Amino acid sequence: MSLINHFLVSNGLRISTNPCVSPDFCLDWPALAAKLRGGGAEVKVWEKSRFATKAGEIVLLEDGVTGDCAWRLAARAPQVLEEGQALADGTTVFPATWANLLKLKNLAQEHDAGTTIFPTAADRLGQSTLGIGARFTTLHWPAVDWAMSALELGMTANQNSIPRELVYDVNAMLDGRLDTVPFPFIGTNVPEGHQGQSVEGMSHGCVLAKLKTGFHRRHIAWSFNADHQPIGGKFDAREDALVQGCVLASYITFDLSPELAQTKVPADAAGWVKSNVDEALVAKVKSRVAAAGLALNEAEFAKLLAYVWPAMKKMKQRDEKYRLAREKLFTTAAGRVYLRELSIDELPGLTTPETTAIMLSLCEALGMKINFIAPAFGFQKNTPYPDNAALRALIEKQWTVCKQFGTSIGFHSGSGKSAENYQVMGAVTGARLEIKTSGRYTYEMGRALFASKNESDQKLWRDWYKFTVGLALKGAFSTDPTEQKMARTFVTDALGKAGKPTDVFASEAAMRKAIEALPPSPDYMFWFEYNFLHVLAAGGEAEKSALGDHTPAGYQQRARFYSISGEGRLNYAKNVASYIIFLADNTGLASKERCAAAAKLLAGYKTLDQMLGDISR
Ligand SMILES: [Zn+2]
Repeated sequence: MSLINHFLVSNGLRISTNPCVSPDFCLDWPALAAKLRGGGAEVKVWEKSRFATKAGEIVLLEDGVTGDCAWRLAARAPQVLEEGQALADGTTVFPATWANLLKLKNLAQEHDAGTTIFPTAADRLGQSTLGIGARFTTLHWPAVDWAMSALELGMTANQNSIPRELVYDVNAMLDGRLDTVPFPFIGTNVPEGHQGQSVEGMSHGCVLAKLKTGFHRRHIAWSFNADHQPIGGKFDAREDALVQGCVLASYITFDLSPELAQTKVPADAAGWVKSNVDEALVAKVKSRVAAAGLALNEAEFAKLLAYVWPAMKKMKQRDEKYRLAREKLFTTAAGRVYLRELSIDELPGLTTPETTAIMLSLCEALGMKINFIAPAFGFQKNTPYPDNAALRALIEKQWTVCKQFGTSIGFHSGSGKSAENYQVMGAVTGARLEIKTSGRYTYEMGRALFASKNESDQKLWRDWYKFTVGLALKGAFSTDPTEQKMARTFVTDALGKAGKPTDVFASEAAMRKAIEALPPSPDYMFWFEYNFLHVLAAGGEAEKSALGDHTPAGYQQRARFYSISGEGRLNYAKNVASYIIFLADNTGLASKERCAAAAKLLAGYKTLDQMLGDISR
């Protein structure tokens, strides 16, 4: 048994309530294999999952108690995958290990290159999509799959930042070698991978979730975005591990900021460029930018090039590694291809069209097709952009450049914008865009639990709310100026919107009294800002030291969310799906008629089974 599986099993952390931590979806194969040999009582056959492969038909099995999964091949052929066991009925069963999943991808794609069981870069995914992030849990997936099916629209159905939010290497986690991520608004560093799941586990879980509902029968291609892959800086040392963990991603976002943060532009930038960058490449970039209709200021150009060139070189090198890793593991063209996004919204200030043009020309000259680029538009997470005319002008300037490179615009921090904002984004780009959303789906979970009549959902909601109150109280009286300022901003916003006096910071007791007088609600800014760290907080405690806890205490907390009631799940699925319909409608990714029909269908569901039953049609 692998170290991670031993850690999970010996601490009673099973896939049924703690999925996607191990890369494997079977922690204890000897136990599950014994059950299967003994007739398979307690084992569910996911009938809709059936799919054809080169080696025969395969169906997904799941242990109803532990959540351990297996594949059953309708043939006697134990050599097809690893650790196969032939059963008396002539079939063969295999554990749902990470290694077997990678092999299955080849078997499925060799049989049918157009299969949509695995994430791909097919259809319009490289031009128009919605990025559905999993910042918190993976409980939103069935709703995402329902929305893709109802809207007949492929999306970036799985998206997450690695190693920030996902554990990039479970052995590093067990050894206590995970780095930390600064969260200035909380005044502390939180261990990376603060969601608790691993990148491979999540890649695995996303495929299985779709098979269970038969989503693949709809033949709608979907992608998995390894978001904000950090380039350079302190990440050089573990870039091979990052590449390895992301092999199932069909879409890579390159984030140059770690390398840029440590790049010093030399005083003589032009001289530096002359001696460090290939002359022919510089000439190519210049003429491409000019052809795009932008006039270059020589000095500014040299400065920008000297600033980004070291990062661009590393990006190209990383890109080669992503390509080689896929060529090594996967046998088909469909299984190897991946989309690229260049994130430049981390660069200081609003992005100028010149910067976008230079960056895209550089990528072109380096032979890297960029499907999406994310300039900075000055978005605040979860806040509408206040001026639609100004937004239109900003996007138009960027779009004039991007369309000449065949690149769509990625809107980062895209959650919580107004309908009019999304309409502008869609109209200017002709829906050649990606809206990246993530925090929204945590908020929707809060609303779902808040509205649930189930007692244990209510208890979880109250504890969750109390956790954010606790962090707000500590933050508002912290000696760290950023932490204090942010906490007071969140609290002031909540009190102001509730029509209460906001002058409550005379003492901790005064603030506590004011907050406790508010009826709990998921609509307060402090709840929104602090909520996502509750999932892996040891004991659910509002203590900095409890956050991002990768010991059993953190995972026991995580299990609470995966144990919510059917009512809570239905509320949540409806909230998530309806938000996706709203995005597709306003950006113009799906027609008004289709969105209206989907919304009507959604409103009619009384149970989650009913809703999920419709995914496969
Ligand atoms: Zn970004």
